[in-house]
Amino acid sequence: MSKRPLRIGLSARIYHPEVGATGLRSKSLQYLEQSVAHWVMSREVMVFMVPSVSGDGIVHRSSIRLSDYPQYLDGLILQGGADINPQSYGEKALRPEWAGDKVRDAYEMELLHEFMEAGKPVLGICRGAQLINVALGGTLYQDIASQIETAGAHVHPDYDRHSHEIVWDSRSGLANLYPGVGGGAVVSIHHQSIKSLGRGLRVEARGAADEIVEAIRHDGKQYVFGVQWHPEFHPPGSPNLLDCTPILDEFLNAARGRRW
Ligand code: MN
Repeated sequence: MSKRPLRIGLSARIYHPEVGATGLRSKSLQYLEQSVAHWVMSREVMVFMVPSVSGDGIVHRSSIRLSDYPQYLDGLILQGGADINPQSYGEKALRPEWAGDKVRDAYEMELLHEFMEAGKPVLGICRGAQLINVALGGTLYQDIASQIETAGAHVHPDYDRHSHEIVWDSRSGLANLYPGVGGGAVVSIHHQSIKSLGRGLRVEARGAADEIVEAIRHDGKQYVFGVQWHPEFHPPGSPNLLDCTPILDEFLNAARGRRW
């Protein structure tokens, strides 16, 4: 008997209308980046983007809540994208351009909460890892370059081709996933990074040169894992970048209800 494909929810990226824009750019857009959907779909998975329920447009009353989604979906992926608003961890933005997206913060925190409450696995990518940390009470550096003197480059004009080395803890889940391997190169583009850890989280990997947090995992029975890098930007079979299929498979095994 064939198994049904897994159903994985993907949080939406949110585009807020620009002042004076016309056409599509005058609308609120909720969207996904193709590469992350296609990465997950490299296995037998159907991907569903979960739009936010409230918005800044015309309100159509609905009885559907974000809390209705976990019972129909097997797991959640939090996409990358805009910065987290520092107010979400009790700080003021030190510069206006670091104010991030408070609307998306609130929406994704609710989504994360509902999936954790339902005991369904969650994988956070880039902003998603930071969101998990902040939702569980942790904080972020608002800007790596100006706040961490020893930091290497985590942003680059090359965007999705910029990589750096990470190393993981020898007792981490990553060490179990990659026997005999101590780390690898990852495509990691971010100007915020994890400062203090949220409740129940532990650091699994750090930047090899600067020890900036690059992966976090929740200590409980439930699978909640966040990577600061973008596994979906790693071309399959790349000789230089970390093969992230074990990470995807671990998440999907958890979604199938198997021990990972
Ligand atoms: Mn990085």
